[in-house]
Amino acid sequence: MQYDVIVIGSGPGGYVAAIRCAQLGLKTAIIEKYTTFGGTCLNVGCIPSKALLDSSEHYHNATHTFTEHGIDVKEVKVNIKQMIKRKNEVVDQTTGGITFLMKKNKIDTFEGLGSFKDKNTIKIASTKGGEQEITAKNIIIATGSKPTELPFLKTDGKRIITSTEALNLTEVPKHLILIGGGVIGLELGSVYARLGAEVTVVEFMDAIIPTMDKTLGKELQKSLTKLGMKFLLSHKVTGATVKGKKVTVTVDSPKGEKVVLEGDYCLVAVGRTAYSEGLGLENIGITLEERGKKIPVNEHLETSVKGIYAIGDVIKGAMLAHKAEEEGTFVAETIAGQKPHINYNLIPGVVYTWPEVASVGYTEEQLKEKGSKYKTGTFPFKASGRARASMDTDGLVKVLADAETDEILGVHMIGPRCADMIAEAVVAMEFRASAEDIGRISHAHPTFTEAFKEAALAATDNRAIHI
Ligand code: FAD
Ligand code: NAD
Repeated sequence: MQYDVIVIGSGPGGYVAAIRCAQLGLKTAIIEKYTTFGGTCLNVGCIPSKALLDSSEHYHNATHTFTEHGIDVKEVKVNIKQMIKRKNEVVDQTTGGITFLMKKNKIDTFEGLGSFKDKNTIKIASTKGGEQEITAKNIIIATGSKPTELPFLKTDGKRIITSTEALNLTEVPKHLILIGGGVIGLELGSVYARLGAEVTVVEFMDAIIPTMDKTLGKELQKSLTKLGMKFLLSHKVTGATVKGKKVTVTVDSPKGEKVVLEGDYCLVAVGRTAYSEGLGLENIGITLEERGKKIPVNEHLETSVKGIYAIGDVIKGAMLAHKAEEEGTFVAETIAGQKPHINYNLIPGVVYTWPEVASVGYTEEQLKEKGSKYKTGTFPFKASGRARASMDTDGLVKVLADAETDEILGVHMIGPRCADMIAEAVVAMEFRASAEDIGRISHAHPTFTEAFKEAALAATDNRAIHI
């Protein structure tokens, strides 16, 4: 079978690329080695983690804030089996939706492991046995990533686990030890802390979410400490052993003291590694980057072989679903002869804890390092009427603007519904708005979004109204 485009991998990068190719009139096939479409994001990533975050938030509110709201409920209990069942149903509906979209767009689908025979031919080894070959002028590699393993701390899938198993526990841990204070650790740590687990985070750096603006990590740590989570920062994990249901984790403190942690589960969340095993890249002369095993690409996301592109987690850049989606569209349009563009500086980053953390553009640390002249405006949610009404007063919005032109250079938020609120900042920055532009735009009252307007006013000329 001959195609214009073959896509390998059906995560948010792959399936979006396939749909956009089909929309542009290209005859398209997609290959997925698992039985469902959607990749990490839909099956064991974004969607299931958000389903559990939402369920655990309901439980936490029922046990912590309902009484103050004047709602008395008796005997609120966690039913973890039902929680996981609902999460699985959400996943099934969402992955089923992709199957529908493939049919609707007349994309041919193949189940099996795809590998390069030559630069135009892909062998598909079906999981049910049997092999077939298909060919195309263009091939898009969208094979994603897998959890990074620490060589001295191997996961066993039962007690020392990755995010995949943490999304399917059959009990609430008594003590969950988390290695890595990044996005996965803090989101899944929040789930189990809300459900009553003791949670200890061991982080190598001196801050949680260390790659985001430093203000956010500090504020988030305060909120998660209130939730009961404990943090061992600048601590180095050295190993872990399992005995029955007990996990013992050994850690070196910054002063070199040995710390021993005992728990019933240890979640290793120290990043993800690009996944390209079994692709047969050696048959077409593509060599991986030494660091991170990523597939090297040029500015058109084309590999060293003409007509072969790579997108998403398997290449450089942020490992985010919406970054992979943009790249899927970009490559489809490039193949169709268009001249698309991605502004990587304006890909937002979100952490779905409560309060939510969201960020776009330059961090204050990056601006300092670049030697840029900038001004700052912040607005705390405790000064927001809407936040007081909903009892969500933790956090703030910080706007960084160019000292001379007033153009917004970065927006960093932590607070209620910031995951949704960051979209306004992205739009503003795509249109190169100034802080004063945002300050002069009407924002509905009372909404959380007023905090962005107020922070922008504060950055403009210290003109915030409510502080
Ligand atoms: P993937 O989604 O990893 O998909 C790759 C697909 O390729 C897989 O289905 C794989 O089976 C298939 N494949 C691999 N090799 C072959 C082969 N040889 N033949 C056939 N098929 C193959 N990002 C966000 O933006 N927001 C979030 O809230 C978020 N939450 C997350 C929560 C968790 C717990 C995790 C683990 C990740 C989360 N992410 C989130 C990250 C997000 O899931 C990834 O950035 C995204 O899935 C990357 O998309 P992709 O298309 O590059 O690859
Ligand atoms: P991460 O890079 O976000 O965090 C890993 C953390 O582990 C870092 O803070 C790092 O300093 C720390 N670390 C590394 N080695 C360590 C060690 N030996 N001991 C202690 N700490 C160590 O990675 P992650 O949380 O595993 O997530 C993987 C990817 O998935 C990320 O790139 C992220 O973008 C994506 N993701 C995104 C979302 C979201 O957008 N909401 C949610 C989950 C995952």
